[in-house]
Amino acid sequence: AHLVAKRVRQRANWSRAVAILQEFKDGCATPLHRLRQVVDALVVEMHAGLALEGGSKLKMILSYVDNLPTGEECGLYYALDLGGTNFRVLRVQLAGREGRILQQEYEEVSIPEALMVGSNEELFDFIAAELASFVASEGEGFHPLPGRQRELGFTFSFPVKQTSIDSGTLLKWTKGFAISETVGKDVVEELQAAMARQNLDMRVSALVNDTVGTLAGGRYWNEDVMVAVILGTGSNACYVERADAIPKWRGVLPKSGSMVINMEWGNFWSSHLPRTPVDDALDAESLNPGDQGFEKLISGMYLGDIVRRVLLKMAQEAALFGDVIPSNLLIPFILRTPDISAMHADESADLKEVTRVLKVVFKTQASLRSRKMIVDVCDTVAERAACLVAAGIVGILKKIGRDTVGNVDMARLKSILAGKGRKTVVAMDGGLYEHYPKFREYLHNTAVELLGKEVAEQVVVELSKDGSGIGAALLAASHSQYLSD
Ligand code: BGC
Ligand code: MG
Repeated sequence: AHLVAKRVRQRANWSRAVAILQEFKDGCATPLHRLRQVVDALVVEMHAGLALEGGSKLKMILSYVDNLPTGEECGLYYALDLGGTNFRVLRVQLAGREGRILQQEYEEVSIPEALMVGSNEELFDFIAAELASFVASEGEGFHPLPGRQRELGFTFSFPVKQTSIDSGTLLKWTKGFAISETVGKDVVEELQAAMARQNLDMRVSALVNDTVGTLAGGRYWNEDVMVAVILGTGSNACYVERADAIPKWRGVLPKSGSMVINMEWGNFWSSHLPRTPVDDALDAESLNPGDQGFEKLISGMYLGDIVRRVLLKMAQEAALFGDVIPSNLLIPFILRTPDISAMHADESADLKEVTRVLKVVFKTQASLRSRKMIVDVCDTVAERAACLVAAGIVGILKKIGRDTVGNVDMARLKSILAGKGRKTVVAMDGGLYEHYPKFREYLHNTAVELLGKEVAEQVVVELSKDGSGIGAALLAASHSQYLSD
């Protein structure tokens, strides 16, 4: 009788788990017609954000970058890249069109977690100290010009309202950062002050978002680069917009006739986005509830935790891991995106990798059919994210197309892209794209489906690994205080 009761319970649990999975899958579904609605919603928001300040949740920030690297840049430049989990400092010796990058060096340091939620001064002092010791190690092959201050490109990967190429105030923190004092401050002034405290004589010549740095770094080698996307801890995109398509731009129209727009697409919002109660809970318990809605569906910081939350529900309501809920399952962000990539890629018959991750991360185990179910959860989360990113990229392409035909219409876009005979290159960076093959596959396949094969052939996604640092150094060069234009 005991055994029978146990079997009945197991069967009930299993069907409950199946139901939870199905419900989650339904909520995450991204059929093509839905993705097209997302594409269109993004284009609408892009217009609204460009029309006026505060016109949309999509900020469409002016970068003040109206000239991208040409290859002519010359001299020694530094960059500092503060983004998700690491920060890096680098220097490059540039030698113009023929010589290009003569030499480069970098150092990468992970940011102590306490500093991400500590005080403003501590964070900037830490960064400036690392930078100062890096500068002190400058050796052979790097040639500062006598009598000139060293110059720095500052890649700061958070939403900043730029006021010029070398100033801007922090709108809000994202990802794992939350230091309320910094909000509203000019981050260049903060860095400059911290550098002075280190007796470091150096000038910030360009303040750029990492997307903008990546675009600049990509453009240095390939002039067809029009868009840059970051898929890492956070996510964002920027692209080259025609200046006369930016109604909120009040300044003098740049000579180049265009300006890079930092979309801050992490904060994109639309009722067409596929969301589930799991996403609502994640948002509510995050450092920034109500913000970065798109980012929380697509970026590396969150995908693992979405999976964890679904598994927790299955554990609580369907005893997925037996009668006791593994306590680690309750720890936010313990399951990281690399873990779900590893489980997702597991092709062994007995899902060894899933067993390993469950053991290492949650100190638990599960039956083979439960492990299969876990892979299915990873698949669902990754597929939704990748499809939404594809829709985002297609939205940008569509916006660029509409610019010249004045009519949002895929057929026209096709002829423009194809007729020009020019490739449109999307420079891509970030660990999620780089290290998650299944995610990449979904992203590419969906982009092809949305664009059609013919147009898709004209669009190239190029991995531009760590291009944002070099890009910032290049922009420091083209915006040097010693250049007069
Ligand atoms: C930030 C963006 C940044 C992106 C990628 C987002 O959380 O808001 O400014 O570009 O992460 O690092
Ligand atoms: Mg980065």
